Amino acid sequence: MAKALNKKDKKYVWHPFTNQRGWEKGEPLIIERGKGSYLFDTKGRKYLDGVSSLWVTVHGHRKKELDRAIEKQLKKIAHSTLLGLGNVPSIELAENLIKLAPRGLTRVFYSDSGSESVEIALKLAFHFWQILGKRKKTRFLTLTNAYHGDTIGSVSVGGIDLFHKTYKPLLFKSLKVPPGNIPALENILKTRHREIAAMIVEPLVQAAAGMLLYPPEYLKAVRKLCTKYGVLLIVDEVATGFGRTGKMFACEHVGITPDLMCVAKGITGGYLPLAATLTSEKIYRTFLDHTFYHGHTYTGNPLACAAALANLEIFRKERTLDKLQPKIKLLAQLLKPLLKLKQVKEIRQLGFIVGIELNISAQPVILRARKLGAILRPLGKVIVLMPPLSISEAELRKLVEITATSVAGST
Ligand SMILES: *Cc1c(COP(=O)(O)O)cnc(C)c1O
Repeated sequence: MAKALNKKDKKYVWHPFTNQRGWEKGEPLIIERGKGSYLFDTKGRKYLDGVSSLWVTVHGHRKKELDRAIEKQLKKIAHSTLLGLGNVPSIELAENLIKLAPRGLTRVFYSDSGSESVEIALKLAFHFWQILGKRKKTRFLTLTNAYHGDTIGSVSVGGIDLFHKTYKPLLFKSLKVPPGNIPALENILKTRHREIAAMIVEPLVQAAAGMLLYPPEYLKAVRKLCTKYGVLLIVDEVATGFGRTGKMFACEHVGITPDLMCVAKGITGGYLPLAATLTSEKIYRTFLDHTFYHGHTYTGNPLACAAALANLEIFRKERTLDKLQPKIKLLAQLLKPLLKLKQVKEIRQLGFIVGIELNISAQPVILRARKLGAILRPLGKVIVLMPPLSISEAELRKLVEITATSVAGST
């Protein structure tokens, strides 16, 4: 069976962020099931899920409470639209999200992916100023090396050449500043705030850029200066939200509230696609007499919202964030010896987000790790570690050990 699937995958499936020429030549690994921190392939081999199935798994795979929440909702209804109707889990989830979110965010606009949550934030920010008659506020300020998704609007505020430069003729032009440089930020806001609708940032860590960190003081300054110059602040918590950095949201590290906040990835514990754009009451009220003509077919899907509710419930019941703190410290300790390897240039960590920058290609390391029983992902020359928050200390040790051995054995 495994062989037949292998063939059919190559025949029918087009994989994201994948060079298909290389894929067709390779041996695809096909995942059949998961349990806790492990993935199992069609041949029954097991692997530590070192990247939380692309940064989404929170409490592990086949988490009983999450499975049950979806089953329970399934017996009521799988989908009903939010266009002109409400549905039970979407209401309860919105209330729970607002209670958890930085104070001052009061409304939830749902969508299905991080990219969409960013598109919505951009459109809302632009539209907000149009309603207020500030018609010249049409541009967005972003950070160099930013990543906010793959749709055209979110690519327009992105800055990763490898992913984005092909589409340049299709994009609207954004203003860019380098993260960390407060005088440069103040300068551009001072001179151009009249044409800037909003600034968008990934908080503290630029994930897709290779887990690049910038100082927390910079994020604080971003909030202060956006307020000073009348520019809305969009914080993209798609990668950092739901405990990833050691706090529920990365904004909490510096105690700021954005005007718009995008969440997705970890929101359902890694079970179903769901995203949300949270806004301030001021933005919401500005729209009261103006329809926001935007909405995806599956917006507020009850199954996904039920999973998200259960996800948040587990955070409370199991004190996930308390239990995570010693594991974050352990991870830092375990990573230290890797700095001695000649292949390692730098290690960056924020909570359970790790980027190990190599001076060799990361791809052979990934293949080696696979043989040793761990799934890792490269971002260029950076190896990403993003284990599920629920990973045990023993599993964490194993994951870092496999990573170290794989790096040490590669050239
Ligand atoms: C993954 C990611 C996105 C895009 O989310 P999708 O669900 O893949 O569309 C946006 N912003 C950040 C910071 C991300 O990490």
